[in-house]
Amino acid sequence: MKVWSVCVGEGWKSIVDEAVQQLTGAGATITQVKEKFGGLRIYYNAPSDEIYEYCAPIVRRAALYADITCEDCGVPGKNVNVDGWYRTLCPECFKLRLKDREDWLKV
Ligand SMILES: [Zn+2]
Repeated sequence: MKVWSVCVGEGWKSIVDEAVQQLTGAGATITQVKEKFGGLRIYYNAPSDEIYEYCAPIVRRAALYADITCEDCGVPGKNVNVDGWYRTLCPECFKLRLKDREDWLKV
């Protein structure tokens, strides 16, 4: 089975693992997991309307949780803009990313 949590940062791995486990356990097939504009996206196929309706809130809940969880380290975070890229980060990881950019600009 594909490990979908590798598609997102360390901080979101447990959110993705748990959601994927519930979705596949219900009979859905995951087609894609990714971060977009700082949000968590989980795409899946459900074999029936019942399974789709069961899965929709699981995906919504995972996305809501990811919205307030730092994608890099998993502590509470928020959607921030790092040089035009929207990411969900805590203050520390946000600072690290800005520092990375400064180092990059020095080269
Ligand atoms: Zn962090």
